[in-house]
Amino acid sequence: MSTYRHYIVDQAEFAHAPGKVVCVGRNYADHVKELGNAIPTSPLLFIKPATAMVAMAEPLLLPSGFGACHHELEMALLIGRPLTKAAPEECRAAIAGVGLALDLTLRELQDELKEKGHPWERAKAFDGACPLADFVPFDQNLDFARLTLRLTRNGGVQQQGNCSDMLFSVENLLSEISHSFSLMPGDVVLTGTPAGVGPLHSGDKLLAELDDFLRIETVVL
Ligand code: ZN
Repeated sequence: MSTYRHYIVDQAEFAHAPGKVVCVGRNYADHVKELGNAIPTSPLLFIKPATAMVAMAEPLLLPSGFGACHHELEMALLIGRPLTKAAPEECRAAIAGVGLALDLTLRELQDELKEKGHPWERAKAFDGACPLADFVPFDQNLDFARLTLRLTRNGGVQQQGNCSDMLFSVENLLSEISHSFSLMPGDVVLTGTPAGVGPLHSGDKLLAELDDFLRIETVVL
């Protein structure tokens, strides 16, 4: 059972317990193409439970016996106020922190599930499927469009993207999500992954970076 709690960089533990993680699939066109999927007309949403969250700084334990486990580096948003059926312009005020997540994905299992038309949870919602960095306090003036995210694996850049390439902006994404599921303090939203996803192996050393203000190193057990 995970003992994960949210932390804000240089502050005490976040006041709210970890809730759910709402994720968007296919939010960067280059990643949509690399997996041979169609560009969505509305966000493809799925949820990871609180038991999926672990601290990214701790060594990552991958499930065994299910085939390849892929890394998907994503910008993560920590929700600080409830959002229900919110307009896009109301959504920024609900963001408490900005961070990084790995949307760990059992890719072979996901392909099987997709083929059968089954839900993806077994491939994406397992214990430890959402390693999270500590969050940086959200600056209401932050321009998401200028942010870059980068994942380096064993010294080589594996994923690099710019948030300006997201098909659905942060504000539109949060609004859209809040029309299906209320977002509550302690919930996390993952904003999609750029191209370059690939399998993780035992002993891999990872460096995840969000622009010039968040940098976290970890290792795969
Ligand atoms: Zn993802």
